[in-house]
Amino acid sequence: MTATASDATASEAVPAAAHFRFFELEVLRTRRLGHSFLRVTFGGESLAGFRSGGYDQSLSLFLPPAHEEHTVLPSTDEDTWFGAWRAMPDADRPVMRSYTVREQRRTDGGADEVDIDFVLHGDSSPASYWAGRAVTGRRIMAIGPAVARNKSVRFQPPAATDALLMYADETALPAAAAILDRLPAGTRVSAWFEVPHADDRLDLPTRADADITWIVRGSGAGKERTERVVELLRAAGLPAAEAPYAWLAGEAGTIRAVRRHLVQERSIDRRAVRFTGYWRLGASEEELLAEAYSGRAPSEDPASAL
Ligand SMILES: Cc1cc2nc3c(=O)[nH]c(=O)nc-3n(C[C@H](O)[C@H](O)[C@H](O)COP(=O)(O)OP(=O)(O)OC[C@H]3O[C@@H](n4cnc5c(N)ncnc54)[C@H](O)[C@@H]3O)c2cc1C
Repeated sequence: MTATASDATASEAVPAAAHFRFFELEVLRTRRLGHSFLRVTFGGESLAGFRSGGYDQSLSLFLPPAHEEHTVLPSTDEDTWFGAWRAMPDADRPVMRSYTVREQRRTDGGADEVDIDFVLHGDSSPASYWAGRAVTGRRIMAIGPAVARNKSVRFQPPAATDALLMYADETALPAAAAILDRLPAGTRVSAWFEVPHADDRLDLPTRADADITWIVRGSGAGKERTERVVELLRAAGLPAAEAPYAWLAGEAGTIRAVRRHLVQERSIDRRAVRFTGYWRLGASEEELLAEAYSGRAPSEDPASAL
């Protein structure tokens, strides 16, 4: 899957060769994790070929319009699906949204399962609406990884990394949690996780030596919210490190400001900062994709996105 928007506003659209393919996902069960999070566990026979690379592995979900129970795509052929999907009438076209594989596992009975943690942020947004009504047996389509080493795992710290810095808002908390899950014992991590509510401060099991600061969002939005996050970071001590690596994901405006702070005020090498806008305040994922197709999206080079 090639990221067609820049890393500052990533969305995935087109499957790259054999690394990605279509899967049919069937809802097995749901579980509320906190005020904002709903875990949807998917199964289905096609998951036998699903190979999550772990960490912040993402995938593209196709979610049905409100009047359909299941996702129906006119084609899942690598060469024709995109044109066929785009040609569907607006009212019938499933929306494509990027999400994170929180966990893939095989049950004792040999069945494959995938967890995706959805932020419920209101019924006027298609993915949030769908998740809020997900029930056992509903089927959706996804473009997901068929090989574990794939481009949709963005967390790639160089071998020499001696400290990790992480910032995530709620949309990127599933990815941050999956990263923490996998880190080896002793990895030094300083993390700032911003969530809407106090009970969104989920348990994050890890063997890493992780110092986690929760930022529970106040009523501020947009610029005010971003400034609060940067102020908190500015006041924080960073671990002494020769080769720090930063992983930042969340609302695009906040991510850019956090990156700027780390690069300009903390002198972190810009090449050691992996930053991804998971959503943008006031813009749906279609609007971000439309920008990407029209060439109006920020450049693929993260440095020039600032
Ligand atoms: C690589 C990647 C991985 C992601 N992983 C996850 C994940 O695991 N879990 C997850 O919940 N999200 C994840 N996201 C973010 C998710 O794709 C976006 O939040 C998406 O916009 C949700 O689609 P929607 O249909 O609900 O809203 P859209 O129709 O896309 O947006 C409608 C409106 O809602 C706003 N909006 C979008 N998301 C939020 C939000 N969370 N809170 C408040 N307002 C919002 C938009 O600014 C817009 O104004 C990921 C994004 C990327 C790029």
